Amino acid sequence: MTGNTHIIGGLAASLAFAQVSNYDPVLLVGAGVVGAIIPDICHGGSKIGRKFKVLSKVINTLFGHRSFTHSLLFLVLMAFLLNGFINNDSIILGFLVGMASHYILDMATKNGIKLLYPLKITVRFPVTTRTGGTVEYVVFAALSVLTVYFGYGVFGKYI
Ligand SMILES: [Zn+2]
Repeated sequence: MTGNTHIIGGLAASLAFAQVSNYDPVLLVGAGVVGAIIPDICHGGSKIGRKFKVLSKVINTLFGHRSFTHSLLFLVLMAFLLNGFINNDSIILGFLVGMASHYILDMATKNGIKLLYPLKITVRFPVTTRTGGTVEYVVFAALSVLTVYFGYGVFGKYI
């Protein structure tokens, strides 16, 4: 999936989570968007990969694309890391929800992800799409609708 789809996916997921929890919605959503783009650090052409070229190159050389940074192992490591450095549950959970949304969206693509890294098993849904294809636009549109819907649920009382 493209960076924009991941951003809207992170927004929809963190807003949905904000609606069913009592965490700070602004922090949740902000961290959710960051978490949603972090896994693609393994890919030099991604939004985040272009910002951190050297780090992206190192990760890509060591692990390849869509492996370590798209795994449950990485998710757990990030949870520990964030817990150690950030003293705010809204930020930590938002970040993890955003990452999970990224994994789910990439599992809907043909290449899938190495969710169980270091096991070399590719995990994907039975029905997949290709990145940038027509189906991705439909997914993007559907996530936009969800974002507005959940966004209104969370922030509607302030409007
Ligand atoms: Zn990805």
